[in-house]
Amino acid sequence: MPKIKIKILEERCKGCGLCIEFCPRKVLSFSGKRNLQGYRVVAFNDFERCNACGICFLMCPEVVFVCEEE
Ligand code: SF4
Ligand code: SF4
Repeated sequence: MPKIKIKILEERCKGCGLCIEFCPRKVLSFSGKRNLQGYRVVAFNDFERCNACGICFLMCPEVVFVCEEE
């Protein structure tokens, strides 16, 4: 079965923090970097612990998270 990986399209991020709040594994945080729109962007702090549950994908109003098959 193909493995699903979550990818972050940081240029879409508006820095609302919802995904950080709701990630059950707490593997997301602000990276300290800003995107071209000037928003603080979210990044993985521990990508290996992401289980691709999809909650961030469902929560994000800006469709920053996309699923990819490995
Ligand atoms: S897929 Fe689940 S575990 Fe991975 S970053 Fe999103 S909410 Fe967190
Ligand atoms: S929910 Fe989306 S827009 Fe909000 S901080 Fe997370 S990635 Fe950025």
